[in-house]
Amino acid sequence: MPRFIAAGNWKMNTTLPEAKALALAIPKALNGPPPSHVETIICPPYISLAVVRDALRGSGIVVGAQNAHWEQKGAFTGEVSPSMLKDLCEYVIVGHSERRHVMGESDDTINRKVKAVYAAGLKPILCVGETLEQRQRDGAEGVVRRQLESGLNGVRDISELVIAYEPVWAIGTGVAATPDTVREITSGAIRAEIAKLHGSDIADEVPVLYGGSANPDNASGFLKEPSIQGTLIGGASLNAEQFAKIVRLTAEIKGGSVK
Ligand code: PEP
Repeated sequence: MPRFIAAGNWKMNTTLPEAKALALAIPKALNGPPPSHVETIICPPYISLAVVRDALRGSGIVVGAQNAHWEQKGAFTGEVSPSMLKDLCEYVIVGHSERRHVMGESDDTINRKVKAVYAAGLKPILCVGETLEQRQRDGAEGVVRRQLESGLNGVRDISELVIAYEPVWAIGTGVAATPDTVREITSGAIRAEIAKLHGSDIADEVPVLYGGSANPDNASGFLKEPSIQGTLIGGASLNAEQFAKIVRLTAEIKGGSVK
């Protein structure tokens, strides 16, 4: 069964009361649980995970973290480990471009995090994507393939993996990539690299999301692409109505009934 996904990344936004209010507003905007074929994931800041998890209990919406450390415990002041997240969420975003480019996380760090997330029984959402400079200099394909190869190095079972293709130049800029540009990578480099590492059956099954200034006005173009199974949404996920619209669009375009 293909997995279709609408995931919201709230980044470093929302106080505790704001997070609770936004979490409660999403099922309301959806008019009930999300359609069963669209896994709907909310990734709030760490401090709001418990409150958002409780607010979404019984809603059919699941919770993810935006990051995790590569060790399960120890002297890492200020960090949060996958095993600490285990009681709070199902998913963890790993390798988001802001972690790579603002916090300076290396491919090796991201690989260690992917392994730690799996070791704790959580599901990684592994983000890959090229900067504008990389695209202009060498093209996106090599960057994305290298990020996948190193991110998944030594990971034997990728059955619950989600990949998000997020060109860095499209994130938070208001300028989304075009569906044609995204298709080149989601049907090309990403599937080819996963097929090389884990075989073509798995490459066809791994959900690949698009992220980068996606919103209710442009999401259909991406969702109509068979090689894209959903979206990872930053800015627009901070608005319950907009996020709910994207969940509904995903349901409509990917088939199945929509309330
Ligand atoms: C993101 O944070 O993963 C993202 C895609 O952000 P935005 O939708 O705001 O570009």
